[in-house]
Amino acid sequence: MSWLQKLLPPKIKRSEGVKKSIPEGLWSKCPACEAVLYSTDLENNQNVCPKCGHHHRLRARARLDLLLDPEGRFEIGAEVIPVDPLKFKDSKRYLDRLAAANEDTGEADAMVVMQGAIKTVQVVVACFEFEFLGGSMGSVVGERFVRGVRAAIEQQLPFICITATGGARMQEGLFSLMQMAKTTAAVTLLGKQQLPFITLLTDPTMGGVSASFAFMGDVVIAEPGALNRHDRRPSPIARQARIPYYAAPARPGGAMTTRRALRDMLLWRRRRP
Ligand SMILES: [Zn+2]
Repeated sequence: MSWLQKLLPPKIKRSEGVKKSIPEGLWSKCPACEAVLYSTDLENNQNVCPKCGHHHRLRARARLDLLLDPEGRFEIGAEVIPVDPLKFKDSKRYLDRLAAANEDTGEADAMVVMQGAIKTVQVVVACFEFEFLGGSMGSVVGERFVRGVRAAIEQQLPFICITATGGARMQEGLFSLMQMAKTTAAVTLLGKQQLPFITLLTDPTMGGVSASFAFMGDVVIAEPGALNRHDRRPSPIARQARIPYYAAPARPGGAMTTRRALRDMLLWRRRRP
């Protein structure tokens, strides 16, 4: 032991010793109550914080695994894959962004549609994947959604959509905005067939999805604390496409929870002449 080590107080000496390493991903922090949670506990509780009940985000396939019976389910529209019609480039090429998102998530686009059963009741479920470019709605999301609706109509099944999205996919420009009209038109077909359309709004549900079909469900369910935001007035495109629009009252920053938005929407509907 050198003369310097002899002089050091015991605490500093200890820090030179063997470091206790915590494996990455073993612990996670709840953003609501800041409790440090054991990841396995969180997973066993379906990603709901055991301390405060905060609903953590779930990946699309993990949510479908939780929701649907394991037997007899199959994917719809997986063959639809994204293209780059505008040859879009900002700081990166759109095709490169797609490839990177594909590598990170293992998904080809931001929506997974499956036909399966919830406790033996047959349904078609479309689920947004937020980890894929912020769950943005591009042409593939719109097309997969519509194929899901068509499958539901052919087999006279209820259609469920679980939203987790930042809104339109700006790299696809007008093609992305047109998905608002396309998906909304598909939803009205469900209505004509008197098939139930159920939306489950999870964190976050924003922009073009929030402004189109997210609030059009026959039953709209919102996860507690899920963030919701869209512009107060309909965009010119939404007006042109005659998309039914829920005009949210102004709030600081425009953001609110989906539950709050639902309450406001009910009040707004009641006040309508
Ligand atoms: Zn918590």
